[in-house]
Amino acid sequence: MFANAVRIFTLNKFDIKVDPSWLLIAALITWSLSRQYFPAVLPGQTPGVYLVMAIAAMLCFFGSLLLHELAHSVVARSYGVPIKSITLFLFGGVAELEAEPQTAAVEFQVALAGPVMSLALAFGFWVLAGVVTMVSMPAPIIEVLSYLSLINLVLALFNLVPAFPLDGGRVLRAYLWHRSGDMLRATETAAKSGTVFAYVLMAFGLMALFRGATVAGLWQLLIGGFVLFAARGSYQTQLMRTTFAGKTVQSLMTANPRVAGPEMTLDDLVNRVMLQHRISFVPVVEDGALLGHIDTAVLGGIDRENWASTRVDDVFTTLDRAAKVRSDMPVRDLMSHIAKTGRRKFLVTDNHALLGVITLADLTAYLNLSELLGHPVTLAPKS
Ligand SMILES: [Zn+2]
Repeated sequence: MFANAVRIFTLNKFDIKVDPSWLLIAALITWSLSRQYFPAVLPGQTPGVYLVMAIAAMLCFFGSLLLHELAHSVVARSYGVPIKSITLFLFGGVAELEAEPQTAAVEFQVALAGPVMSLALAFGFWVLAGVVTMVSMPAPIIEVLSYLSLINLVLALFNLVPAFPLDGGRVLRAYLWHRSGDMLRATETAAKSGTVFAYVLMAFGLMALFRGATVAGLWQLLIGGFVLFAARGSYQTQLMRTTFAGKTVQSLMTANPRVAGPEMTLDDLVNRVMLQHRISFVPVVEDGALLGHIDTAVLGGIDRENWASTRVDDVFTTLDRAAKVRSDMPVRDLMSHIAKTGRRKFLVTDNHALLGVITLADLTAYLNLSELLGHPVTLAPKS
């Protein structure tokens, strides 16, 4: 999701990364604080003072976001859920969990840890602002601390909205999951709440734009768009995880596939194998030995008038490791292999013998089918 994120440091074995989009947001926050918010709450200061206040507030806000995500991560790790990294982007941060929490109770605690941290920070900055006021420190310091208290409160409340994948939505999912024992259904319902919330937020954003409140309007549109995107993505990911849980390549591959011999002409290959059996990816086999494969991409590079005189032998792709998968490979591993290599079609082999063929289309067809049939495969909740 965050391919462009840059790692800035490592804290307690967590990689802390910043997505380039966050720099834009940091600039926007600094600008609106120094030009609008601070001049409004504390008139009569020089632009330089406002700028310093804004930068200090922005950096502490950055730190607060980080602590929010660290709270999620520390709790997750304490329950054995591995954390890849913490990435700051747009409005907030994302702790990238390598796996979903195993039980509803764990998910509930991981989700709640962030908002609890933000509430604690809001309270802490509020107390600090009070102390600083009592000892008559300069007004800019008081205002920065008050702002930080306010923004952490906003952050806590916003994240508690029961809209998946916000923290509140995760709490909702944990509750539904706990009640029904069906994590996928719980994700589906929670993702719907996320979608509704996203549309409401975007509608408010549009209304704000029409009223002339450009910054607030764009902000709401941006966050709404993100929640919408993330809600859809999370359900899809969960559907895939659930559907493919425990499945291996063996169970979804086409066994005993149509093959081509090396002496076959391309004309015969196209007419007698590809068109007749509606396949675009054909293993090349001679005397039971797998030599490689040939597909429509190769044929596309050869003039049609030469198809009758060209043999499979002349053009096929020889066996290479990246095109082979084992039949006992978990489908989830195949999915990440596809994502990593961009390859979509594979020969299934065990010790050089061809067992079958599996393609991305096989996986998506199975996924669509099981969704249509109402998720025949569901994760049994572990307790
Ligand atoms: Zn959070």
